Formats: sequence, structure tokens, C-alpha cells
Amino acid sequence: SSIRALDNERGPGVTRDGVAVALEANIASMADAARLADSSVQGVGLYRTEAVFLERATPPGVDEQRVIYERVLRSLGGRPVTIRTVDGGADRPLEFLLGQGMDPATAFEALGLRGFRLDVRYPQILDSQLRAIAAAQDNTGVAVRVMAPMISTPREAAEFAKRAREFGIAQVGAMVEIPSAALRASKILEHVDFISVGTNDLAQYTMAADRTLGELSRLLDPWQPAVLDLVSMAARAGKEHSKPVAVCGEAAADPALALVLVGLGVTSLSMAPGAVSAVRHAIRHHSAKETRAIARAALAESSPSSAKRAALELVDPQV
Ligand code: PEP
Ligand code: MG
Repeated sequence: SSIRALDNERGPGVTRDGVAVALEANIASMADAARLADSSVQGVGLYRTEAVFLERATPPGVDEQRVIYERVLRSLGGRPVTIRTVDGGADRPLEFLLGQGMDPATAFEALGLRGFRLDVRYPQILDSQLRAIAAAQDNTGVAVRVMAPMISTPREAAEFAKRAREFGIAQVGAMVEIPSAALRASKILEHVDFISVGTNDLAQYTMAADRTLGELSRLLDPWQPAVLDLVSMAARAGKEHSKPVAVCGEAAADPALALVLVGLGVTSLSMAPGAVSAVRHAIRHHSAKETRAIARAALAESSPSSAKRAALELVDPQV
């Protein structure tokens, strides 16, 4: 019966007692977006735009970008889309920058120039992307949210918000994926409309463990209580400002961990589309109060495995 329930549940994310939790998809291409055309996801919580910028000798122009963003927005048929501005990194090098004074020896290091830091050094990258997104927003009428990766300080959030609003972007956000951003989430929320926690990088930087090293997977486990503490701080800041707090890292795809995140006060979860029905099922079978108890149980533990065990003891066995 549990399997049938999974198939039948196509509605929005909501707790048993009616608290809404938006369930959205992570995508990285027009093809990913096209596959969502008749899916029940409520929107896109993370559109990673790196593919538009990779393996190129010159950056993509505004019009080239606009065509891609418009197709993605149209595929979602009016559902909201959160576009993340480009995040170069060790695993996604923006090669065209090597011809623009970027030092190949240190380019895109995890502790160096990536995410919003590249926008500070090369303002034209962000300007062309924001111009293209604003045009796509105007041409399609879709509610676009734009967020910047790797925001480290409230000042960076303010700078990003100012530039995005100058281009006419209505909903502006900051990713919380560096511990400093979680610690100062309340100050960041003075400048932006929402925050979105990237648990992949938040775990990497909290635990000082390179996310590409499989050997460190225990440290990178999003059930690490230290990572959950930082998510909790971000969620509390959202509540204080009455602004949305999303989680878009891989943590959101684990149904038990999703219950913990909801219990901490996270208001939307974005994940690989294939994970949505199991997460929806878990959330629909618990009350908001139960998710808070699950979150408290996990945070009281001192290792990822005991945090998961403590949470699972309180999860409805039907789920
Ligand atoms: C994250 O860091 O959790 C995230 C969602 O961004 P990415 O995985 O693209 O770095
Ligand atoms: Mg990230």
C-alpha cells in the first residue's frame, strides 16, 4: 500500500497538519528542464548554469544565454524557477577565464576564486548573465528567482542584490554554503528575499573535507550534527525575517533528513527529480510538531550515524 501511495501522491509538499513545504527539482540543462514538463515538482529550486559556460574559449553572449534560459522557463509551464548564477570550480573550470588573467595554477580552487568571487573579479560575467535572465523573465512572464553561489558575507549579499535588482530581477537570493554565511544568515537576509542552503559545500567547508574525495565521505555526511547546527541557524534567521529558507544540496533527497530539515524550519526542498515522491510521502505522513521532535533528536546526537538512528526511531514506520 505504501508503494501505491507513492504513485498516487502528486500534490504539493505539505505536512499531515497542513504546513506547506515546496518540493522542487535541481536541474543543470534544458534537457533536465524538458523532462519536468509533466512532473509534479512545484518548480525548480536550483538551476545550475555552469553547462552554459563550460568548454568555451570565449564567454557566452547575452542572446545565446537568453535563448537557453527562456527554453528552461517555458518547460516549467509557469512554475517558479530559481536560477543560480554561474559557479566556476575545480570540477567545473571556466576555461575562457584563463585567457583573461586567471592564474591557471590556482584557478577555481575550493578556497580561492569561485562562485560570487569570480563575479567580483570579472563583473561582466554576472552582468551578461543577469541581463539574459531578466530578458528571459520578461519574455516568458515566469516568476524567476536568482541566487548567487558562495556568498561569504552580508556585504557580498548586498552587492549581489543591488546588481540583480538593477537588471529588474524581482526575487533575489543568496546561497548559504559557507559557514560564515550560516553564522551571519540574519544579516544576509536584511539584503535578500530568500536564502538557499547548499549542503554539499556547507559540509565541505564546515568539516574542512574536500567534497571530491570519496575517502572523506564520513566527514562529508550531511547528517553531521555540526552541519545540521548551521542549517538550524539559517532556518532560525529565515523565521526571524519571515523569509523563505530552502535547502538545495543533496541532503534534501534523503526522506529522513528531509524531515529533520523541515523540523528545523526549512520552507522548501530542492532535489534530484527522482527523489521527490519519496520525500513528499515522508512529509505528508508527519505533523510539523513531529518533524520538530525528529530534528531535536538528531541534533542531540554526536555523530552522523547516531543522528540518523535517533531520527529514524521517530519516523513513522509506514514511511
Ligand atoms: C551545494 O553546494 O550544496 C550546491 C547545491 O551547489 P553545488 O553542488 O552545485 O556546488
Ligand atoms: Mg555549492
